[in-house]
Amino acid sequence: MAPAVDSLFFAVRSACSTAQWSRGVELSRAGAVFLDREGEEEVIFRIAARGGMIGRAVTLYPADNDWDCGCDRPEAGCEHVAAAIITWKRASEKGQDLTVAAQPAGRVGYRFRRDAGGLTLERVVSTAEGQQALESTLAAVASKRVSGPSFVAGQADLAVELALGTHRRGLLPRPLVGKVFARLAHCTDIELDGAAVSVSPEPVEPVVRVEDQGDGFRVRLVANPSVTESFANGVALCGRTLRPVGEPKLTGRELHELPRGRRYGPSDVAELMTEVLPSLRRRVPVEVVTDNLPETVAENPARADRVVAEPRDTLGSGYARLRRSPPRARGRGTSGSSAGAGAGTR
Ligand SMILES: [Zn+2]
Repeated sequence: MAPAVDSLFFAVRSACSTAQWSRGVELSRAGAVFLDREGEEEVIFRIAARGGMIGRAVTLYPADNDWDCGCDRPEAGCEHVAAAIITWKRASEKGQDLTVAAQPAGRVGYRFRRDAGGLTLERVVSTAEGQQALESTLAAVASKRVSGPSFVAGQADLAVELALGTHRRGLLPRPLVGKVFARLAHCTDIELDGAAVSVSPEPVEPVVRVEDQGDGFRVRLVANPSVTESFANGVALCGRTLRPVGEPKLTGRELHELPRGRRYGPSDVAELMTEVLPSLRRRVPVEVVTDNLPETVAENPARADRVVAEPRDTLGSGYARLRRSPPRARGRGTSGSSAGAGAGTR
């Protein structure tokens, strides 16, 4: 990779101001450059801020002669990228391995565990030698107010810590799940009972399923099919990704009735197609697992809404609409009210 390192070195140097470049030289000399990981196309470094343990992540792409730094400076170059490439160039000149020139520092990892009340979360500092629980704040360890393993944390680790607030370890409280997951999505070293997982802030919601029932249909609220395991504190495992469980946007009555299922007989099909399903589709994912519903309407919400006019007109309610009144009493108000209307109780 030596020619690629040389070429990237000159590209970074010409992108940096003299001041940025000389700060990069200082950072490299001061041993502030740590190797995070080497990928096939990129090498990621962490540059420790002055005296602290919070680092900037710098990614170098030697094959593309490109780089990336999280410092948000508008200029193309910065002292962090300079420090990383200077360290790498020196190692390459000495024939040194990068793991020697830029020693891998400990990094913050996140360990979820299954527990009776849901998922617990613990932070650790993980190094080549193993891992150690992190029980105080990053700032406290960095300022040496409390003893702890040495590490270089990233901005994402700080953001997670802020989202956790005073929570240090144990069961992750449900109200924190969404906020913490939004920050954890930017972290990489996450495990669930020893297996690597990722975290997504995208909530996973239950779905409404329409299925055959006798000569009619049943509309029922079921778990999202992508969920492989649910935990009591509002977290779901979907394959290898942890996601918050979202609250379905249903009315109180729907939340009460739909988990048991609501039946629509042959004479209720028009209402199911023109009111109930379009209303539900605006609020929750709907899964149709029957071939007996009129197909074009069942699978195309836009068309379903367009079809609405026809049965209403045939019922003589077109006149009412001309007078700018709701065509039918149960269509009034929010979309939620129509789905909550009477058919299911028959
Ligand atoms: Zn930078």
